[in-house]
Amino acid sequence: MRIMKQPVRQTILLCLSTLLIFLAGCTTVPITGRSQFNTVPDSLINSMALQEYNSFLKSPENKISTDAEKTAMVQRVGGRIADAVQRYMNEHGLADQIADYEWEFNLIDSDQKNAWAMPGGKVVVYTGILETTQNEAGLAVVMAHEIAHAIARHGAERMTQGLAVTLGGVALNEAIKDEPSATRTIFLTSYGVGTTVAVMLPYSRMHETEADRLGLIFMAMAGYPPEEAVGFWQRMAQSKDGSAPPEFLSTHPADETRIMDIKRNLPEARRYYRPYKPVIEPPR
Ligand SMILES: [Zn+2]
Repeated sequence: MRIMKQPVRQTILLCLSTLLIFLAGCTTVPITGRSQFNTVPDSLINSMALQEYNSFLKSPENKISTDAEKTAMVQRVGGRIADAVQRYMNEHGLADQIADYEWEFNLIDSDQKNAWAMPGGKVVVYTGILETTQNEAGLAVVMAHEIAHAIARHGAERMTQGLAVTLGGVALNEAIKDEPSATRTIFLTSYGVGTTVAVMLPYSRMHETEADRLGLIFMAMAGYPPEEAVGFWQRMAQSKDGSAPPEFLSTHPADETRIMDIKRNLPEARRYYRPYKPVIEPPR
């Protein structure tokens, strides 16, 4: 057997290990089939998400709404979308991807027009955006869109980039250990969580387009007419006329391109539409 020269062997070893890391970090977005590269493992992201969600809810500056009717609506819409997504993932052998999700939907009393969802199924809606959503289907547009960001792991992709830019691409577990506050800021900006420590980072156009497309499908699966998305984004665009754009709008530009893309994706979403049938528990 010929003995390889040292540098050649090193190069081969390096290539193999890079390939292994790459394969470990490669995942596919459900429905769109887009391949993505994340260096941050789901387990770490989910545990950070749980911790940040709980500290967000406990923080005195964030008040959970006491409006029983609106709270029930947010939980009803969220629950219907979550059930539909779970059913889709089960039917397509993807249930593993959301195995440790424990869905939670909270309504925060605030003028902010905003909403966000973290992996693990942790969702927040602000009362301010309910003026623009107007009805249950409008709320489904916002919640399905945010849930789509979580299911498509957009935050993890953003964290991968954030770690590369800010901390020179270190692994997440090392970053948490060595740079806890920088890592926390990267996490919060990557997931659009409204806080005073983090400046909101808009999602890229590609992430937005993908979340719009998946969101239409998710709301349709949950029995909400996807056509409602057009009206919601038009109302959002109109609410821009103040001095400062609302939170959701500053990270989600409601422009012509967005509305045109949504209209183009409606026939696809329609194919997933199924009228909502509540699961009736058998009498005991
Ligand atoms: Zn978005």
